[in-house]
Amino acid sequence: MKKGEKKQSRMWVLLAVGIIVLGCIAVLSFTGLPFEQAAAHFLTGSSSSPQHTAANASTTHAISTPSVAESTNGVNGGSPSPSPALTQAPSSTPTATPSPQKMVAYHGPVEHIFFHPLIAYPELAFDGDSMTKGYDDWFVTIPEFNKIIDSLYRNNYILIPIDSIYETKTIDGKMTATRKDLTLPEGKKPLILSIDDNNYYDYMRKNGNINKLVLDENGEVAGYAIDPKGAEVTARDNDIIPILDDFVKAHPDFSFQGAKGVIALTGYEGILGYRTNETGAADYAETKAAALKVVSRLKETGWTFASHGWGHKDAGKISEKVLFADTDRWLKEVGSLLGPTPVYIYPYGASVPEGSPKMKGLQDRGFAVFCSVGPAPYLKASSGVVMMDRRHIDGLSLNDDVKRLAPLFDATVVIDPIRPSVKAKLATANK
Ligand SMILES: [Zn+2]
Repeated sequence: MKKGEKKQSRMWVLLAVGIIVLGCIAVLSFTGLPFEQAAAHFLTGSSSSPQHTAANASTTHAISTPSVAESTNGVNGGSPSPSPALTQAPSSTPTATPSPQKMVAYHGPVEHIFFHPLIAYPELAFDGDSMTKGYDDWFVTIPEFNKIIDSLYRNNYILIPIDSIYETKTIDGKMTATRKDLTLPEGKKPLILSIDDNNYYDYMRKNGNINKLVLDENGEVAGYAIDPKGAEVTARDNDIIPILDDFVKAHPDFSFQGAKGVIALTGYEGILGYRTNETGAADYAETKAAALKVVSRLKETGWTFASHGWGHKDAGKISEKVLFADTDRWLKEVGSLLGPTPVYIYPYGASVPEGSPKMKGLQDRGFAVFCSVGPAPYLKASSGVVMMDRRHIDGLSLNDDVKRLAPLFDATVVIDPIRPSVKAKLATANK
């Protein structure tokens, strides 16, 4: 192809894309879908279920027009704002002067959900090897995660910083935490999101998770992976952190004060895909510097950290001595890279009794906010600590907790048909 021809054909492509986009806008105006939903749809590539659309059409409308314009900007990758006629959300009720968001005291339950790093390559996760069942049980695919955050957003949840629910103070060398009042934009429900084991362990790299977090050419956190064909990939759509960063960019009202989530890290295979556990390695200084760059960008962009123990040990079962040695090692190898955090996310959700010597020992080491696993929101402050349960969002809950998860999202719509468990159910049903 000659240069001139190339230019001309590119022009035709641009023209065609323009016509398609205008066509979509026209269709959306007719169906009365708020633009935000459309934006979310395009962003996630998910097909919204009819009940979601119907249930949320009115509530999304209540969100003032600026966020609509912002979300459109996000989709366009920061290109100049579309003309006012296009940004106007189709509306049957007059919304001439959008009032500033009213802040109100919130006294209801605080949802806390957690994930493991996403399955970026289902063909590796569900390849029939000995890890397949574990991946089906404990992990979530990218399409599932996209549908989940889309639904949470449209159900009026808002990500909050975990430290907006507690206050810490060191008393007699012990970290203590008490509840703090929560004030939120009116109509929003608080949501804390955490990611366990965001370490990219060796087994994860072999089974369909990405390899590590890196900074891309724009200085943003991206996921680095080797795809099943052996090609290197750096992308922003292959794990929770970059996906949520982009989602919040497109929907700023999904985040209170820019909050994203809590990253719970162990230490036995380093952090975030950097083997910072190999403290004697020749390239330790480089590895550490690379990890610190990512840590620093994560902190700037609304992410916080928690201890998940150094060796992912069951805190309930191990002795005090082992628990404290494990915690000390975490503080030395991992905490030193992250900075102080009072949040301890129990491996296996296995908690220690309130007021026990184990809990006091953890308080001596700077922890006073303890997160376990439970089927529904649970938040309690007593004995100088805050205790919170988190719902596990994974194949097990998507298959079995449909009713309990209903306020957050419709698991029957979210669940990925690529899962062996879904295929097995279908096969049984068809018998
Ligand atoms: Zn874990």
